[in-house]
Amino acid sequence: MEIQRLGVALILSGPSGSGKSSISKEVMKQHPEVCFSISCTTRAPRGAERDGVDYYFLSREEFRRKIEADAFIEYAEVHGNFYGTLKSEVIDRVSRGIDVILDIDVQGAAKVRELCRKEPLFDACAEFVFVAPPSHAELERRLRGRGTDSEEVIQKRLANSKLEISRWREYSYLLINDEFAGAVERFNALLLAFRMSTKRWKEDVNG
Ligand code: 5GP
Repeated sequence: MEIQRLGVALILSGPSGSGKSSISKEVMKQHPEVCFSISCTTRAPRGAERDGVDYYFLSREEFRRKIEADAFIEYAEVHGNFYGTLKSEVIDRVSRGIDVILDIDVQGAAKVRELCRKEPLFDACAEFVFVAPPSHAELERRLRGRGTDSEEVIQKRLANSKLEISRWREYSYLLINDEFAGAVERFNALLLAFRMSTKRWKEDVNG
């Protein structure tokens, strides 16, 4: 079948505890055709996280080898660990018209934005959405409520969140996660609108 449009590379950023992964998981449940870009990380698995499902959990040495092999679209150090988006998770899919969600931090998103200036494929596919909590107090409550992180990790994430939230204007869309079902609905609306963007459709769409 003729491919009619490129996939959306939906770049989702927001501080830990903003709910971006819960929102994207729910949206993917409702849209099973949407893929998730599984990132590489050097941090240890948390709770029930599984290798190859939530992340590819790598040693620092394995991560360094991937950098040398030019396997990443972008990578960054976040909260003292390395995180990176593999080219193999994104490029082939969006080229084939499959939508991909990338959960990456503000530094990684800035790198993808830079890439968009050089690479027409990225420019055509990328959409940038920032997920924010309704308040810092609520963010702290959610981070503590997870019960999976040490106090030191929570403090590091809270300190980092202020810096991350201050960069929301770099994004085209702001999704305030005040209430889960509503946030999912608005995220779904964004996805549907992104699919209609003329910039991703091929010229011969009616031909
Ligand atoms: P967590 O450890 O809570 O899973 O993720 C910590 C932060 O790393 C989050 O802000 C998440 O968006 C970010 N992150 C996850 N994967 C990637 C990636 O591939 N690249 C970048 N730059 N950040 C990532």
